[in-house]
Amino acid sequence: MSRSEIVERFVLISQVFFILRCRPYSKNCKIFLIPLCLLLACSAQSGYAGSSVVTNDPEKQSPPYLPVYHIPLRVHLAKSSKTPQQFIPIFTEINQIWRSQAGICFDIYAVNHDAPLKAGLDMWFSPYIGGFNGYWDGEYIQMTDEPVLGWAPNPARYSAARTAAHELGHALGLSHRQNSDDNLMRSKTYGWQLNKSEITIAREAAAEIGLKNNAKDTCKRPLILKEVHD
Ligand SMILES: [Zn+2]
Repeated sequence: MSRSEIVERFVLISQVFFILRCRPYSKNCKIFLIPLCLLLACSAQSGYAGSSVVTNDPEKQSPPYLPVYHIPLRVHLAKSSKTPQQFIPIFTEINQIWRSQAGICFDIYAVNHDAPLKAGLDMWFSPYIGGFNGYWDGEYIQMTDEPVLGWAPNPARYSAARTAAHELGHALGLSHRQNSDDNLMRSKTYGWQLNKSEITIAREAAAEIGLKNNAKDTCKRPLILKEVHD
């Protein structure tokens, strides 16, 4: 919720309290009723949608940059405490963050073994990785199952998706950018936003390591192997 939304809601609640105590049709009562109605009308119009990355089905929106680069991403779940099903919305949000801003999709394959890909990126999930939320070691990404993140004005939905998207940013050559809680490359917040120069750097890296046949503008559905956790 943004600061202006918090102020609006505070005004709204104060007015509701006043109205509950005011006599109908009195002048004082109307002074508060009219702005309340206007505020309610505006709220209904905006739907308090905020600017969450997951609203309005981003898969149906045109990507801002073409071609959309597809990078194979093998996600190793053998050590994770979560079920493969729990990862589906997390994987979806990772791709929403990257496709909606940079025209990059990760072709995600979840597996129950530790063998890395020959081409593409690899990510491991486990309950504990030495107190870190996640890190890129220059070759692989390690993730904890439940990253702990701080507040952002426009937050991502899942802390694991935000942290994985952040680490993928490192894998694509991005450094930290700490000047806003909304930045994807800020440490330890729910922010997910990229700026133009980050998009340029990430797309150059994606062109290098991604698949050469970038036929599709949409991201593939994550492929979750059935034998995971069997
Ligand atoms: Zn980082």
